[in-house]
Amino acid sequence: MSTNVTVRIPPSPTGRLHIGTARTALFNYLFARHADGRIVFRSEDTDRTRSKREHEDEIVEGLHWLGLDWDDFSRQSEHAARHTELLDGLIRAEKAFVSKEPAKDDPSREVEVVRLKNPGRAITFTDEIRGEITFDTTELGDFVIARSRDDALYHFAVVADDWDAGVTHVIRGEDHISNTPRQILIQEALGAPRPVYAHIPLILDAKRAKLSKRSGATSVMDYRAEGFLPEALVNYFALLGWNPGSDREDFSLAELVEAFSLAGVQKSGAAFDREKLLSVNQRWMRKLSDEAYVSHLNDLDPELDLSNIGKIVPLLKERARTFGEAREMLGGELAFLFAPPSVSKEALLAKTPAGRGAEVQRALERALEALAGLGSEIAANSAKDALMPIAEELEAVGKGSRGAFLWSLRYALSGSERSPDPFTIIYILGADEALSRLRHALALLGAS
Ligand code: GLU
Repeated sequence: MSTNVTVRIPPSPTGRLHIGTARTALFNYLFARHADGRIVFRSEDTDRTRSKREHEDEIVEGLHWLGLDWDDFSRQSEHAARHTELLDGLIRAEKAFVSKEPAKDDPSREVEVVRLKNPGRAITFTDEIRGEITFDTTELGDFVIARSRDDALYHFAVVADDWDAGVTHVIRGEDHISNTPRQILIQEALGAPRPVYAHIPLILDAKRAKLSKRSGATSVMDYRAEGFLPEALVNYFALLGWNPGSDREDFSLAELVEAFSLAGVQKSGAAFDREKLLSVNQRWMRKLSDEAYVSHLNDLDPELDLSNIGKIVPLLKERARTFGEAREMLGGELAFLFAPPSVSKEALLAKTPAGRGAEVQRALERALEALAGLGSEIAANSAKDALMPIAEELEAVGKGSRGAFLWSLRYALSGSERSPDPFTIIYILGADEALSRLRHALALLGAS
């Protein structure tokens, strides 16, 4: 059943895809798809010096990457002839007039701007989120709506395009509230219907200032390059200013479409919290199958050697909050899983109480024997079952020896002070490699 809803996604292609732009686009998408309505995408490229096709491409690609789509695509610059036609109509109807005046940038040159005849009264509109808003438009005077008959200014172009596209709902950032009365005056002059307005709160940084580059990455594509999932960004962006009316925080795009309503959008600014986004992203990363997880890693860095990654994915899922972090772990704290680490005798015995070195060495020898009897593939549980009794026996002889032994075992395998537990490492390395590392450690201990 199709309702009468049409929204617009009208980004200006003057820069990268900002997370604020993406969030506004998302709210429009959710509102429209929830109502089974239409979405028109309009590239507002009338600022000829700042608009760039590469920005438009990035915005489109980024929004598609997030999972958003639309039913109609146009560029504002393509509507220029229609703008002139509508301007001429207003001039003929004496609702606007051509005014010869010195050019702003060069007063010696005369230009023929088009000014709206402003009836000069209070304009009241009802904002779906902020309620009734009234502006006195008298002080705007007969404001300029076109630089010339064939060069409409931004406010005129927006109103004309929204009208032509049959836009019923204008959902946009709160920074556009003060533009609304001007745009309503233009609508009234044109005889265009007034859409429903909903101005959504801005995204703020942790200090509750407007989000800027200084507060961290603001470009959606930077988040993609860091290894965030689009599902996570969508989930997180939706919760920036919208409240489902429950504690629920986990939403797919389809679930958001189902649940979204403007009534759940809050008035106050929403603070962007990177830690929160990281935890949402980790939740979405953990939902992936191991195969999908590896394929994301490969997309992030096709150079990565992922041939033996299978057993490591659960470790990464536990630890990494972005695919970028996962990649760093593979080359950093988990690199010992791919190549034998360098280990030192001192560090092997770092936790061993004075005088107990021989005992710990003996326990490592027993560990080696126990593991050697387990076959080539050793499950972490089997390794634990085989080795914990040795640790417990040692503890019975001298308090603290269990920890010393487990430390030495783990360090012998990982060469690292912080690593997963030794049983998991044994499982991942497989018997051959684990035994070879233990032998190497024992050789070091034996060599006095
Ligand atoms: N092109 C404007 C912007 O990117 C949007 C204007 C509007 O939503 O009316 O901020």
